[in-house]
Formats: sequence, C-alpha cells, structure tokens
Amino acid sequence: MQKGSPFWKVVLREKYGVGVGVPLLSGGSTCPNYASRWWKDVSNLGDGDGLNWKSPAPSKVVVFTWKLLHDRIPTKRNLAIRNSLPSDSSLECVWCNNSVEDSTHLFLHCEGVSMVWCKLMEWVEFNFLIPPNLFILWECWNGAILNKKLRRGVRLIWHAAIWSIWKARNDRIFNNVDIDVEELLESIKVLSWRWCLGRLNLPACLFYEWNWNPKIVCCGDVDLLGCAASWWLFGCYGGALFLL
Ligand SMILES: [Zn+2]
Repeated sequence: MQKGSPFWKVVLREKYGVGVGVPLLSGGSTCPNYASRWWKDVSNLGDGDGLNWKSPAPSKVVVFTWKLLHDRIPTKRNLAIRNSLPSDSSLECVWCNNSVEDSTHLFLHCEGVSMVWCKLMEWVEFNFLIPPNLFILWECWNGAILNKKLRRGVRLIWHAAIWSIWKARNDRIFNNVDIDVEELLESIKVLSWRWCLGRLNLPACLFYEWNWNPKIVCCGDVDLLGCAASWWLFGCYGGALFLL
C-alpha cells in the first residue's frame, strides 16, 4: 500500500485498475471499460452532465440523487423494463394510483409531492413554477442563489427532500405507512435541520430557528436570526396572551 493513500482507493484500484477513483466528484472520467456500471456511475459523478454535485448531504444521498436524475433508480417503471416485477404487478403510483410510477412523476409531478415542492420553495423564498423535469428543478434550485453558503444550504434541503420522498414511498409500499403533505414537509425540514447541525459547520441552531428562516441560518447570522425569531414568537404567543 502506498504511503498516504486511503485504504479504500487501494482496494478499488486493485479491483478496477490504476486511476480509478482519483477524481471522484471533481470531473474527469478515469474509469476503465471493464469497471462495473455502478462504479462508473460513482466515478463519473459530475462528469459530462454539466452539473455541480458538491453538497453537504451524505454521500449515499448525493449518489442516489445523481442516479435519480439519470433515471437509474428502481421505480416500478424501471423494474418493469428490466423484467424484475411479476407480470401482473401494478405500475401505478403508490400515492395517487393515477399514473405510472416513474422518476419524474414520483419525485415531482404526483399531486402531493408537487405541493410539498411548492411549500418548500415558499419556505426558502424561491419563486418559480413546478418544472417539467427534475434536471430543471435542480438547476433552478442551484441557479436561484449566488451566495456560496446559501447555496450549500439549499442543496442540502434539496437532497433532504429527495431522500425523504423516497423513504416515504418505500414506507408506503413495504410498511403500509402513509403520510400526508404536511407530515412529509415536516420530515424534510427536520432531516435538513439535522444535517445542517452536523454538516454545515455553522453555529448551532434550534429547529424553530431553522424552520423560521433556513437562509439566515445558512448565512451564519445568528444575531439576526435570534432577533427575527423572537419577534416571530412574540407575534404568535404575545398575541395569544393578549387575547386571553
Ligand atoms: Zn402519483
């Protein structure tokens, strides 16, 4: 093993050849033709699709999202194409039963999911319509903000949304658990807040502060946040006390 070379790189190079894994997430394909499709996908993240994938979200979530945008996740439609479902299986969406479950419908156009995206965009103060596909949605989220810290924060929220939608879909299929729009929205906010605490290297914040304004939290302006949140709390509870 070479000095200073991470163990996982050595193992992967032994399996797939010299050069594999070096430019992970930084562009420039070095995958040999005989590498597995999975490894080609991971090694080529950000290469050739013009997308910047740097995100504070967990790497497994970033990889999942990349596969989603390239329509390589096991939706019912994709499983049917690969003959991985029994012939009599329903391909309809688990939530609306009104459309074939493909990536775009499941993560963007299913009615409840669209409502969740609209509420998320309202939360982060984005102002655009639900686009025709996930690529454009990703580009809108990235292009809407130039500030580097803010962009890291909204990418984290994007990834939390994708991950939460997929988990909710799997819970519906495998555990018969159904959640409504507000519950899904809340789970995205909670998950993104947890990731924010551990991954954004920002001053600790409470959930109600994150829920109040994630963009202020991402900028690290805690004083402004405390002031704004205090006024918000005063408005809610002060008004209630006044009525009592
Ligand atoms: Zn649906």
